[in-house]
Amino acid sequence: MIALSLAEIAAVVGGQTHDIPDPSVQVTGPVVRDSREAVPGSLFVAFVGERVDGHDFAAAVVAAGAVAVLASRPVGVPAIVVEDVQAALGALARHVVDRLGATLVALTGSAGKTSTKDLIAQVLGAKAPTVFTPGSLNNEIGLPLTALSATEETRFLVLEMGARGIGHIRYLTGLTPPKVGLVLNVGSAHIGEFGGREQIAQAKGEMVESLPAAEDGGAAILNADDPLVRAMASRTKAKVVLFGESDEADVRAENVRLTDSGQPAFRLHTPSGASDVTMRLYGEHHVSNALAAAAVAHELGMSATEIATALSEAGSLSRWRMEVTERPDGVTVVNDAYNANPESMRAALRALVAMGKGRRTWAVLGEMAELGDEALAEHDAVGRLAVRLNVSKLVAVGGREASWLQLGAYNEGSWGEESVHVSDAQAAIDLLRSELRPGDVVLVKASRSVGLEAVATALLETA
Ligand code: ATP
Ligand code: MG
Repeated sequence: MIALSLAEIAAVVGGQTHDIPDPSVQVTGPVVRDSREAVPGSLFVAFVGERVDGHDFAAAVVAAGAVAVLASRPVGVPAIVVEDVQAALGALARHVVDRLGATLVALTGSAGKTSTKDLIAQVLGAKAPTVFTPGSLNNEIGLPLTALSATEETRFLVLEMGARGIGHIRYLTGLTPPKVGLVLNVGSAHIGEFGGREQIAQAKGEMVESLPAAEDGGAAILNADDPLVRAMASRTKAKVVLFGESDEADVRAENVRLTDSGQPAFRLHTPSGASDVTMRLYGEHHVSNALAAAAVAHELGMSATEIATALSEAGSLSRWRMEVTERPDGVTVVNDAYNANPESMRAALRALVAMGKGRRTWAVLGEMAELGDEALAEHDAVGRLAVRLNVSKLVAVGGREASWLQLGAYNEGSWGEESVHVSDAQAAIDLLRSELRPGDVVLVKASRSVGLEAVATALLETA
């Protein structure tokens, strides 16, 4: 982070200094909320959680070298005491990003935020020093912590923003106001909590409302293939840049295909040139993510060739997303157990089939959570798609939703024993251990809450 004195931080957050002998001492970073991450120069942010109270670790973090604690009560070691620690952290982040020379890029969407953020970070990172959200730390705490990790050298700050309701994105863009704002899609993720797609669109669209006007450099990057996202063009004063497969998109893909290994390839078209991309990532849903990243990078001055090269080299920076591992016995395990929604289930099944040409393919699938009233229809449709794509075997894992997957496959008509329903991960592991043969390809995918990574891990351990 940029160095700030304790006196300056106290002024920015409107806090009282306690037990601070020398307020001119500087915090050089990192700003941490996990006491184990405190190092000399750190500012430790003490949150009161449900199980632990950060204030209890104040002495330990100072012993580890932390300069002070941002706290809601005096703690007997150097502290800046405020009423609301979260608000203070946000105010500090805002102060720092306003002083940085970096261009802020923010993105939101129902699915693919982390995957796309990782792509943007790798593409922009090929051009200039880039700081980005680690993993999925996309909320009111992770976002300011990420912003505070930027330094004077940082040229691009790429921030994932998550929304679970109206007003969330507005709050986050207030902390770190983006110049370039991207909305990926309005899908069915969290639809149960939001109450419907229109509400989700309303909430995500706060991203483009926050942007500076076009004449001040604001750019709204919108998915041309998603009608609810496209419609957000009317909610912004920023320049609108469309990406997608649609002919009207400014940044688009032509000749999209999956290579024999299941990786997407396409010709990238930008307003200033075209270039070929062959991705290292698996799954056609990454085409949309790649186009989004390309549109951001093009807006920030990169050429089609530079972008295509970086996209072709980009790997996954986050775990359990289409992680492909080949066992010594020739079984390929595709671990996509990080999360699932209807869109990514379909994309993952298509990638499995492309990757498994001429081989036996197994789809080990569990519940897609938070689908509200659409849950039955969506699970049924995924089961049916597995049959239509000619997946060799479907293993549906878990409770009611898993039985809908299996029934969908069964009701599609042509399947008998190709689909099975097992109650839990252990049962799936036992089944697969006895049935897998060299050369088989196994996809493991479900919502985060199902914990299906246990299956992928077990399959790799027994190799
Ligand atoms: P979270 O809300 O958990 O932070 P996220 O929006 O960051 O999720 P990712 O972690 O990138 O999304 O991906 C979540 C799941 O969605 C993964 O299973 C991934 O395969 C899938 N996915 C990635 N990109 C897309 C996309 N463009 N459309 C649909 N699904 C996608
Ligand atoms: Mg994420």
